Amino acid sequence: MHCQCVHEFGQPLRPDDRPDMTPRGTEVILSVTAAGVCHTDLHIREGGYDLGHGRKLEFAQRGIALPLVMGHETVGEVVAAGPDVGTLDRGKKYVVYPWIGCGTCAVCASGQEQLCMKPQFLGMHVDGGYATQIRVPHPKYLHEIGDIPPEKRRTAGLFGAYGLWRAQEGGKHAERPCASGDRRWRPWADVRATVAGAGGQAPVFVDIDPVKRASALAAGACAAVDPRAADAVAQIHAAAGEAPLAAIDFVGAEATAELGFDALGKGGTYVIVGLFGGAAPWALPLIAVRALTIRGSYTGSPGEFAELMQLARNGAIKPIPTTCYKLDEAEDVLNSLAGGKIVGRAILAGV
Ligand SMILES: [Zn+2]
Ligand SMILES: [Zn+2]
Repeated sequence: MHCQCVHEFGQPLRPDDRPDMTPRGTEVILSVTAAGVCHTDLHIREGGYDLGHGRKLEFAQRGIALPLVMGHETVGEVVAAGPDVGTLDRGKKYVVYPWIGCGTCAVCASGQEQLCMKPQFLGMHVDGGYATQIRVPHPKYLHEIGDIPPEKRRTAGLFGAYGLWRAQEGGKHAERPCASGDRRWRPWADVRATVAGAGGQAPVFVDIDPVKRASALAAGACAAVDPRAADAVAQIHAAAGEAPLAAIDFVGAEATAELGFDALGKGGTYVIVGLFGGAAPWALPLIAVRALTIRGSYTGSPGEFAELMQLARNGAIKPIPTTCYKLDEAEDVLNSLAGGKIVGRAILAGV
């Protein structure tokens, strides 16, 4: 099998050729037909996150061993299954749930594997989808992609679904205390991926890139605001009706966190999904005075992923713009992503 690997943090990916995989026990081997390229992968290649105040979270000290095949947004076809797999339809394409835990702790038993303290995430702790083959430890992590039209199979839906999954997940957290019908619950969302309207209401989209703003409006955002505008907060308030009670930050930078915080109404919830980096820019007394909730959202549970895939199969999720590249273009694609040149989602599809 062929793969693109991180051999050294901070260095370009390098191609590798390895023997084809053989499954043991409950393992399933998929032939990868598509692998989404994610901002998270940029951080992995770089070797950590900027924590602000001159500090850095180093993956090398967090149990991420090299060489590593990145890629946690993977679709493939079954080529081999271990003796304990049982029945599995080999004629289908599957998307892989990647946020796999140890499987034995109380957190995993509660169905929140993505929060396990001994994570085995595909593409992060264990080899992922930037490859012609991927090893999945159990068929329960496979979800049929359903009747997505053949021409869109590689280019639509499911990878967008990941972005949307995070959006939906962020939206879920933001919506939790929401009184339905309250106009102020139209969320403000600073997104790099398309958002299909959390809770059925179109979000206000904020991004510095005019191309991405246009793309968001085309995808159904009720307004698209340039955060650099002097009256950005006023524009957000006008578009949402008044100060919104929910903001989802898909960037997670100091500038976005500051603007999002300033735009929120009293009693609002600020959900951080993005991992760009930096330190919190907020004045502590204002968090209390304005009764704000600041919370994080990290992927979603296996059960939530199953729900999302059901929505995708039912056609409830609009595809986002995607572009396909060859597996061996992975390094160039990552560089384009780092340069802000990718609109929607980049997908590695085939060698
Ligand atoms: Zn991702
Ligand atoms: Zn666990």
